[in-house]
Amino acid sequence: LFTKYRSFSTATEQKQTDTLKGGSEKREFQAETRMLLDIVARSLYSDKEVFIRELISNASDALEKFRYLSVSAAADSPQLVETDRPLEIKLTTDKQNRTITFQDSGIGMTKEELTQNLGTIARSGSKSFIEEIKKQGAEQASSIIGQFGVGFYSAFMVAEKIEVYTRSSKSGSPGYRWLSDGSGMYEIQEADGVPVGTKIVVYLKTDCREFADDDTVKNIIKKYSNFIGSLIFLNNEQV
Ligand code: ADP
Ligand code: MG
Repeated sequence: LFTKYRSFSTATEQKQTDTLKGGSEKREFQAETRMLLDIVARSLYSDKEVFIRELISNASDALEKFRYLSVSAAADSPQLVETDRPLEIKLTTDKQNRTITFQDSGIGMTKEELTQNLGTIARSGSKSFIEEIKKQGAEQASSIIGQFGVGFYSAFMVAEKIEVYTRSSKSGSPGYRWLSDGSGMYEIQEADGVPVGTKIVVYLKTDCREFADDDTVKNIIKKYSNFIGSLIFLNNEQV
């Protein structure tokens, strides 16, 4: 099932201290996820900016989960690491490299969680989406995306590839890099120096470069961030 695979070059990515360890594993998305990704990537859905709302809402959920854990009985147990870090969401845009990055200091993911959460569509929104597509046909994709939302996968409307760096707040969890161009396979590799939480680097398609523009992104965040209970920074400025 797993084959050794040379990783993509990471030369253009923003400076970070993590280093990749050992070989990477290349895995196939679950069949229904492949179908969903295929439809999402090709859909003419015009409201592409919603991927920003989806990734911010995931970051916010991850922070909420961490807050909950840290005030619950487990708080003083050695199960949680780095409990005193600031809990916030940081977005950065990079026009030159055509990227938008979402970083949170939330609960993070273990390797199993990464595989489960970003490789399958256990969640209800994506499941309903696939069910509707089966009923109504892929031509209706745009209106169905609008109705059901596709969460994390919506980023593949605008992405050439997506890189996820994550480390679970469970003590002893290593960091990982997850990488996919949305075309059926993803790759997972252990990485050193990943802070607790999750960082998602979206490498934008050429015709989606507007999402690497500070002002454009600021307006989109303002439109959607009313309900977010965490501080959001865009290029180091609070939004
Ligand atoms: P939903 O948010 O409705 O569950 P998504 O497709 O948006 O569905 O995300 C799928 C899952 O991936 C989430 O339920 C969560 O477990 C995991 N996930 C996504 N983003 C993050 C993140 N920033 N930190 C931790 N887990 C995440
Ligand atoms: Mg979500």
